[in-house]
Amino acid sequence: MKRTVLIFLLACLTQQAAAQHDTDIIRCVSDVSADSIANYIETLTRFHTRHNLSSQTHPERGIGAASRWLYGKVSGWIPVSGGRLSVEKISYPAGGPGTRMDRQVELTNIMAVLRGTGPGEILLLAHYDSRVNDNGDSTSFAPGANDNGSGVACLLESIRLLAARPLPATVRFLFLSGEEHGLLGAAAMARMASEQGWDVTAVINYDMIGNTRASDTDHCDNTRTRVFSTEGPSRELARYIKETGEAYVDNMTITLIYRNDRYGRGGDHSPFLAAGYPAVRICEFHENYDRTHQLVREENGTLYGDLPPGVDCEYVRKNTGINLAAVMNLSKAPAPPAKVKMNTQVLSNYTELEWEPSPGPVAGYHVLLRETHAPVWEKRIFVTGNRARIPYSKDNYYFGVSAIGTEGHQSLVCPVDQ
Ligand SMILES: [Zn+2]
Repeated sequence: MKRTVLIFLLACLTQQAAAQHDTDIIRCVSDVSADSIANYIETLTRFHTRHNLSSQTHPERGIGAASRWLYGKVSGWIPVSGGRLSVEKISYPAGGPGTRMDRQVELTNIMAVLRGTGPGEILLLAHYDSRVNDNGDSTSFAPGANDNGSGVACLLESIRLLAARPLPATVRFLFLSGEEHGLLGAAAMARMASEQGWDVTAVINYDMIGNTRASDTDHCDNTRTRVFSTEGPSRELARYIKETGEAYVDNMTITLIYRNDRYGRGGDHSPFLAAGYPAVRICEFHENYDRTHQLVREENGTLYGDLPPGVDCEYVRKNTGINLAAVMNLSKAPAPPAKVKMNTQVLSNYTELEWEPSPGPVAGYHVLLRETHAPVWEKRIFVTGNRARIPYSKDNYYFGVSAIGTEGHQSLVCPVDQ
């Protein structure tokens, strides 16, 4: 009798896994401040340029001054973290003959690490370098308010809000240089992750998340954002971000784009993807090419350049909420089950699944179903134990299994290993 009641309660709890149910996450998402975001972006544009060949030593201008400001800004939140937050500068050689930069320099990534109490590491990326039309021009004003002040602001605001909230998983915030000259900073960190054996469960890159008005067509929308992903574990991560983000952030639809990135362009998630980690890019739905990588100028009545008025900070606020909802859910969730096997030998309209249980405590599992043409999981069936027999034909659906933690947080989905 007691066991029946318990299972009933767990079933009720876990039916809400996809909806808002965690007051800590609700509070954290509602604490995101568009004013704080506007301040970070305004400050970043004051370094005149953050070009990879700009000054490393000037006290107020250039990429060196920007990296020192980032380091100091993050350091300011260390006291409220109870010793969990640390920050370091990681330098690497870049450029030289035969590369996109005509001379060799030392570039710096800033890595903030928020230590978790359990296993797993989530990597959040945003590049802080900037450029204009001519990628060799290291002296012109290159404010980079949206590209990528917006992504940097998202990470800074996330550190501010997570510093005082202990989470099970470790979160690494990577402020990357070298992006505009070939994803150099990201490549250096992906190498480090592999060499040091980081326990990476997810890599999320925020690059251009503040523009809401399209150039050319003038389409305008602050209620949609994009997650770019390739098929496989990265796509599961993208689905997870869509589900958790839409549950906790109002007036935002997350569109899954079934590509690694936009045509002719790349992002810092790619070196991590190549190293074998699940890695996605979050990017605004509409882009403005009058602002991106443009010299600041007025021509025939059109204003060009990546200046703060082109960033919709309310929209960046919502994208930051999506980040917090995904990161907190993922951090509080158990590790997913492994090796989900489906019995394809029997001719039956029941489907039999079996999997290796998650390590650590779980309330149970969701068996997830979607039609073979559907982009997101459509139905979830709660089970305890590590096998299920469900009345749906294996021929008509895709299946996966996620673990549900004791407080109802769901893990990433492990799809059937065919
Ligand atoms: Zn960018």
